[in-house]
Amino acid sequence: MNKKQTENLEFDKNHVWHPYTSMSKPLPSYLVESADGVHINLASGEKLVDGMSSWWSVLHGYNHPELNHALIKQTEKFAHVMFGGLTHEPAITLSQTLIELTPKGLNKVFLSDSGSVSVEVALKMSIQYWHSKNKPEKHKILTVRNGYHGDTFAAMSVCDPVNGMHQLFEPVLMKNLFAPAPKTAFDQAWDVSDVDELSAMFEKHHHEIAAFIIEPIVQGAGGMRLYHPNYLKACRELCNQYNVLLIADEIATGLGRTGKLFACEWANISPDIICLGKTLTGGYMTLAATLCTDEVANSISNGEAGCFMHGPTFMGNPLACAVANASLKILKRNEWQKQIADIECIFKDELMPLIDHPRVADIRVLGGIGVVEATENVEMAVIQKRFVELGVWIRPFGKLIYIMPPFISNKVQLNLLIKAISTVLAEDNCFKRN
Ligand SMILES: *Cc1c(COP(=O)(O)O)cnc(C)c1O
Repeated sequence: MNKKQTENLEFDKNHVWHPYTSMSKPLPSYLVESADGVHINLASGEKLVDGMSSWWSVLHGYNHPELNHALIKQTEKFAHVMFGGLTHEPAITLSQTLIELTPKGLNKVFLSDSGSVSVEVALKMSIQYWHSKNKPEKHKILTVRNGYHGDTFAAMSVCDPVNGMHQLFEPVLMKNLFAPAPKTAFDQAWDVSDVDELSAMFEKHHHEIAAFIIEPIVQGAGGMRLYHPNYLKACRELCNQYNVLLIADEIATGLGRTGKLFACEWANISPDIICLGKTLTGGYMTLAATLCTDEVANSISNGEAGCFMHGPTFMGNPLACAVANASLKILKRNEWQKQIADIECIFKDELMPLIDHPRVADIRVLGGIGVVEATENVEMAVIQKRFVELGVWIRPFGKLIYIMPPFISNKVQLNLLIKAISTVLAEDNCFKRN
């Protein structure tokens, strides 16, 4: 690295917050020079195969000519205008496409800036919905443990209470209701008793519940757990039975990652509200969408306020919409199905066998998701450095070493990721001593 780059890193360490690390004793950050295809190129010279898709958002790879072109073209027209009273083709095309692609019945589109905000929007919609139905007492949210829905306050109030450190924010967090996490794994034999406690909570509390929120099939940042489609089916049935809105948080699973375009399709259900984010622009820009049914949108609009009470400054940002449209256009060519099937196949053949390793507690694979649950917590600074030395970008948390590579990853690149995981599993200093 040259002098300027070294100085930059030093400044970064002293002044720039990074996610979930200390400001006084931060974990190291690596300076990125460029990224292309599945590669992240560091200023220090390493070329890393990306196993994270930049927090699960990249689909077709970095520096993609079509996505670049869409952004440049839109920049030359206009980068942004307010969405109040004005509209534009990129937002209209995106909304049309999302209505067409998402599970049926979701016909009204609210665009916002990030996943957490799209969850805030979904929660506000559900509370405003019941208010407009003269049932303001239905204002609580029911969810399951081990969930993750974002870092803003209302989103945080439906994250796992332990992982989400609820006691820390106790005085200000909404008091919501938590059922146990789904137990039956995706590929296990279905056990109907898995929904007993959830069912009991619906029965006991439905008069005060506005909505039930869940990540369909994959509980992501709350533990990388894959649960049985029948559980999700039961959630839809319970919501119908007890008059509760179903919010599907597909921010991580939406747009192909699990092998279906939306994870809801594994259970053949449609939610009343769906949240999309992360993958929406193929990893280029921050953009999220909350879609709801005509019934939800019309009831809110006919209620006391006469409109939905939310409107971000950068709502429907044309650059973000334009690049989302380009990304969805690539997705609609349907190469993703084969890409994800190939990734899943390699994960099953080469990642699964690591189950025999003494340091491995569990391996979970679904579509483009491969999870190795270790028996011990990782030693972040050490394991991260080792992955970089091994030519890959993998960022574990807790006991979870997982990979969600860009859809375009080939066999050689996937082999490198898996080989790196198998290498670090053998290294004691990459793990915390119990
Ligand atoms: C990442 C994530 C969010 C939050 O999205 P941000 O863009 O980080 O605010 C919400 N829900 C799920 C399921 C996620 O994976």
